[in-house]
Amino acid sequence: MLPLKHRTLCQLFDSFVGAILNYSSEICGVSRKLLNDYGFSEVLFNVNTCNSFVKKFPSIFKSRVIDCFRQEWFGSIDRNRVLDEYKMFKVNFIYEEYLDLVPHNLRCFITRLRTSAHSLHIHTGRFGVHILPRHERLCLNCNLQDIEDVYNFVYICPKYRTIRLKYINHNYYVRHSVYNCYDVLSSNEKHISV
Ligand SMILES: [Zn+2]
Repeated sequence: MLPLKHRTLCQLFDSFVGAILNYSSEICGVSRKLLNDYGFSEVLFNVNTCNSFVKKFPSIFKSRVIDCFRQEWFGSIDRNRVLDEYKMFKVNFIYEEYLDLVPHNLRCFITRLRTSAHSLHIHTGRFGVHILPRHERLCLNCNLQDIEDVYNFVYICPKYRTIRLKYINHNYYVRHSVYNCYDVLSSNEKHISV
């Protein structure tokens, strides 16, 4: 989210409260709704007696808008049934540093794993004629009867054993866990010993 400048916030306040005080009917209606939506209904009645509040209003309003947006955004992620793994990676609403640290030709693969835009069965089993329940989206490349998710793909499935031994540090591989898997894939370290 782009930060709102103080001047912009003052303009917002003028738009809201000024319009309401002047009974500008059209803008007044919109402003009244926004004030109500963000819990500032009292401004409509107390603006003349709360000069200190008026001065603080831009920063208070900015914080309220950001808080509401973050709450709604995290709520939408939490309710999304496709982004089960994304919830593990995206714990803060911030710009992800890995976007600048990882070379562009590799970055897209990490992004696809993080956002479930991959071809693992945990994702592809959601679509098609025969939609499978989550516990039946098993790996089709081996007989382990495990769900084919990112963790299975990176650490478990024997099909990728050769490439795994080549690129993953042995000590880390021996002690692997779901937690470590997501920890590594969400790391912002430029050099990580995996
Ligand atoms: Zn497998």
